[in-house]
Amino acid sequence: MADWTRASAAQMAAAMKAGEVTSVELTQAHLDRIAAVDGDVHAFLHVDAEGALATAREVDAARAAGEELPPLAGVPIAVKDILVTKGMPTTAGSRILEGWEPPYDATVTRKIREARMPILGKTNMDEFAMGSSTEHSGYGPTRNPWDLDRIPGGSGGGSAASLAAWEAPLAIGSDTGGSIRQPASVTGTVGVKPTYGGVSRYGAIALASSLDQLGPCARTVEDAALLHEVMGGHDPMDATSLDEPVPSCVDAARQGREEDLAGVRIGVIKELSGEGYQAGVEQRFEESLELLKARGAEVVEVSCPSFEYALAAYYLILPSEASSNLAKFDSVRFGLRVEKATVERTMGATRAEGFGDEVKRRIILGTYALSAGYYDAYYGSAQKVRTLIQRDFAAAFEQADVLVSPTTPTTPFKLGERLDDPLAMYLNDVATIPANLAGIPGLSLPSGTAPEDGLPTGFQILAPAHEDARMYRIGAALEKALAEQWGGHLSAQAPELEVAQ
Ligand code: GLN
Repeated sequence: MADWTRASAAQMAAAMKAGEVTSVELTQAHLDRIAAVDGDVHAFLHVDAEGALATAREVDAARAAGEELPPLAGVPIAVKDILVTKGMPTTAGSRILEGWEPPYDATVTRKIREARMPILGKTNMDEFAMGSSTEHSGYGPTRNPWDLDRIPGGSGGGSAASLAAWEAPLAIGSDTGGSIRQPASVTGTVGVKPTYGGVSRYGAIALASSLDQLGPCARTVEDAALLHEVMGGHDPMDATSLDEPVPSCVDAARQGREEDLAGVRIGVIKELSGEGYQAGVEQRFEESLELLKARGAEVVEVSCPSFEYALAAYYLILPSEASSNLAKFDSVRFGLRVEKATVERTMGATRAEGFGDEVKRRIILGTYALSAGYYDAYYGSAQKVRTLIQRDFAAAFEQADVLVSPTTPTTPFKLGERLDDPLAMYLNDVATIPANLAGIPGLSLPSGTAPEDGLPTGFQILAPAHEDARMYRIGAALEKALAEQWGGHLSAQAPELEVAQ
């Protein structure tokens, strides 16, 4: 292949096995690509060329020695900076953690190392994963490779942009309210939020512990499935980790490509359409439904009336949990320390300087919502809404095997456009948040580009808890049908970036 950065992770793995390319060559090709375009895209906060090449060399030597290797051995990967990586800077996009090098690996980091995948570096994100545009990063925004004046989504804009810019074939993301799926949608890539507890959170810097979930980011459904199986599984270090086998995502994706969808019921969530949804986004969504029908699926409409309150409930539960999780950044244990006369003032000055506006906004909101006089009215009510949303999902899954919607109401907006309007920013996640409140899995895949602006649109598939494999089956079936319709895989249609010579 002329340019290995254009291959899928599955193709790379097969080519290494067949002796057509080495991991060093693959890793170097991606490092070269990062060097060429990341000045514009800014997907990475830290690039570890030496570490990645060292792993690649080990894999090549092991392969040459005839060693049995894991499926993705030698395939390079980008890691969201929310995951702690021993000896490699970890900031969660915050100035308060500038210069911090974790003394240990997150479970998922360890699994990537055990899978023998070279880690290219750490990707940019909204500070502590709060945001939908990566503009809240303490280190400057990431830009969307489809149009550098537009946002790549958030909080995991760096991971998604690294895939769309061909800087990495796979990446890790975290999804608390949509931070894997929404960036995937606006960059024309694939992103999956597994069932809550399906992937260990140990060593993932916590935003809101009852909502957070790590997951795979990729350019194809099959690649996401391959990475999902690397990441998933029980972990005694995480008290909420599910004690059950990793779902068979890869087999399900294969089944989706090879078999029709006869007998599969697809539920369209009525509340996630209409007002606020861009015409081209809805058009591509409808076309995808037709493709699913043509493959034999039955499409029904379902109603989830409580979704109307999902965003409001989320923006009480998330800040409440975040205000508690972020208390540990106190100038004593990690990173930044702004020295003042007393301990209290040192803590205050450090947090004032180290945290950005969005983080402060949410800490204040969360502290208020949890205060004695308001707890029942705010946090308590939000928890009740959460139960109603879970019930809506349970009822909807009686009528359908999977539920679907556009992933985001619009294509990517311009940088700066919503920065001063938190509510407009929050509305991006209106279709992704319900899944986090219910703990169910969600997958976003590209459904095309909107006719009015030529920018990517996303199709979201939700499944009941523990049924992650189902999304891969339907996702792979749709991906194949879309590729036939569009004359090639959608991720291969990402526009070329001008490379400065
Ligand atoms: N954009 C949402 C928020 O700002 C989701 C964030 C996330 O999933 N980490 O909270």
